[in-house]
Amino acid sequence: MQPFDIQEIQAKSILSPSSLKDADYDFSCNPYIGCRFGCVYCYASFMGRMVGKKTNDWGEFVFAKMNAPELLKKEVAKLKNKGKGKTIWFSSVTDPYQGLEAKYQLTRKCLQVLVEADFQGSVTFLTKSDLVLRDIDVLKQLHHAEVGMTITSTDDSISRYFEKFAPPVSARLAALKKLHQEKIDTYAFIGPLLPHFITNKEKLGQLFKAVHDVGVREIYVEFLNLSGYIRKRLKAELKDLDPTIWEEFYASQSKSYRNEFADIVYELVKKYGFKLRMEKTLYHKEMK
Ligand code: SF4
Repeated sequence: MQPFDIQEIQAKSILSPSSLKDADYDFSCNPYIGCRFGCVYCYASFMGRMVGKKTNDWGEFVFAKMNAPELLKKEVAKLKNKGKGKTIWFSSVTDPYQGLEAKYQLTRKCLQVLVEADFQGSVTFLTKSDLVLRDIDVLKQLHHAEVGMTITSTDDSISRYFEKFAPPVSARLAALKKLHQEKIDTYAFIGPLLPHFITNKEKLGQLFKAVHDVGVREIYVEFLNLSGYIRKRLKAELKDLDPTIWEEFYASQSKSYRNEFADIVYELVKKYGFKLRMEKTLYHKEMK
C-alpha cells in the first residue's frame, strides 16, 4: 500500500452546475478531490484522473481545496435572488465529512459562507460520517438544510469491509437519529444495494426498519453500478473472497435480478411508508 497522499491545493471554481436532466440539485460543491473512506464500490474513483492518480489509488489520496470558502463566496454572490429555489449538494464526488474535514473545516467554512451570504436555497448533504453533527449549529442557520446518510447494511462488519475507512453504519444511524431530534431534515441513501440481500430478504427488511426507527421518512434506493472502471477496482478489492460473491455482484446487473429486487424494495417502501425519491429504484445500465 502506498503512503496516504494529502495535498493542499488552490481550485479554480467550486460550484459545479448539474449536468443531469432529472437531477434534484442545481450545483454540487466538492471541497476535496479524493475520499479517504475508500469505498470499494465508489463511482467517483474516476476523479483520480484530475490529479494524476489511477482508479485503483482511490482512498489513498485527498487534495484539499484550501480556497473553497473564498471561491464559494464569490460564486454565490453571482446567483440570482440569493439562490432562491436552487439546491447545492455537498458532495457529488467526495465525502464532505471525511476525516480530514475535522482538521481543515472546509465544509464548515463553506456553510458559514452560505449563512453570511443569506443563501435562500437548499443545502443537501450526502455523507457516511457522523462528523456532520459538529455543524448542527450552522445547519440550523441555513435557509433549508437536509442531511442524508448512506446506509448499505445494518452490520458494522459489512460496512467496514465495503466502506473501508468510513464510520461504521451504527454511527451513521445514531447520527441520523440525533439530526432528527435536532429537527434537521434527513434522508437515507440506500445504495448500492448489496447483492446478498436477494438471498436474505429479511436482512433488507431489517435495514429499512433501522432507517425508519431513527426518524428517516425519505429514501433513495440504488442498485450497484458496475461500470467498467468500478468493476475493475471492485474485482481487485474482492479477490481474496469466495468467488461466488463476485458472481453474485455480477449477476446483480441483469434486468430480471433488478426487477425481482425492485419488487422487494417497493414492498418495504410501502410497509414503512417511505417517500421513495425519484419515484423509482435507481440503476445505471445493464451489463447482460
Ligand atoms: S464515501 Fe462516497 S465519495 Fe467517499 S469513497 Fe465512499 S462512496 Fe466514494
